[in-house]
Amino acid sequence: MRYIDTHCHIGRLYVGNDGLLTEEAVLSAMDRAGIERAALLPIESPEEAHFYVTTEEVLGVCRRHPDRFIPFCNVDPRIASGDNSAILRERLRQYREQGCRGYGEAMSGLAVDDIRLQRVYAICGEFGMPVVYHMDAERNLDAPGFPGLERMLRQFPSTVFVGHGQRFWAEISGDADSSQYGGYPSGPVTPGGAIVRLLETCSNLYADLSARSALNALTRGPDPAFASRFLERFQQKLFFGSDLCSASQAAQPLPIMELLQRERAAGRLSETAFRRIARENALRVFALSETHCCPRP
Ligand SMILES: [Zn+2]
Repeated sequence: MRYIDTHCHIGRLYVGNDGLLTEEAVLSAMDRAGIERAALLPIESPEEAHFYVTTEEVLGVCRRHPDRFIPFCNVDPRIASGDNSAILRERLRQYREQGCRGYGEAMSGLAVDDIRLQRVYAICGEFGMPVVYHMDAERNLDAPGFPGLERMLRQFPSTVFVGHGQRFWAEISGDADSSQYGGYPSGPVTPGGAIVRLLETCSNLYADLSARSALNALTRGPDPAFASRFLERFQQKLFFGSDLCSASQAAQPLPIMELLQRERAAGRLSETAFRRIARENALRVFALSETHCCPRP
């Protein structure tokens, strides 16, 4: 069984880091890790990284490797001026038509319930494109306990939200505070975490396990069984993701993959839960075919 990665990048993202410049580099990292297909997330907001990787570039790469890459689209929600609803809709409509399966990653320096993001949520719900969003101390801002995110989940019930990032995962714990929103908190996860409550009660909230933040949330406390309990409980709402951004990262084994495999081998993670997280949830939620990547543009 091979993984589907719902959160990957291509191109140069940061000054001082060459990134995964070429599609060949990403493909060989995927081959090494046993990843069959990866979603490529464009970077189109200035707060996201140090360079842009446009949706057009991502679509070009995906057209050359339709069996390996799944195109996502991104449009900065602040694009144009005034009421930009028609512009957002037209760009997203064109991207959907060209085969994009998701929006993101949403990573602008706006409140998570900003009116411009609400336009994106509404359109993505209508077009069946899940929104992958990153929350930290500066992006997709919200008050403690995620009241804004909860409002969005309820206001846009047809829109699938896939959370990720330090702030998102800090709120796994009931005692999360603002000093943790950009970091990797340690210590036991206490009951009452906002994302636990929202994953439980909102059918349209999902999460991806990419980057260090998810791994940290699963392994931060002293309880060695916490990770497998969480993975089992939310096995229908989690996706494997790499968030590969650099060549050095791609050269290492992915710690989240190691954790999934270790828990499965130890019998703490059921085969069903493992398959759902590694592959099957992605097929279902992003409406991918079992045998080929995505609709040809
Ligand atoms: Zn990312």
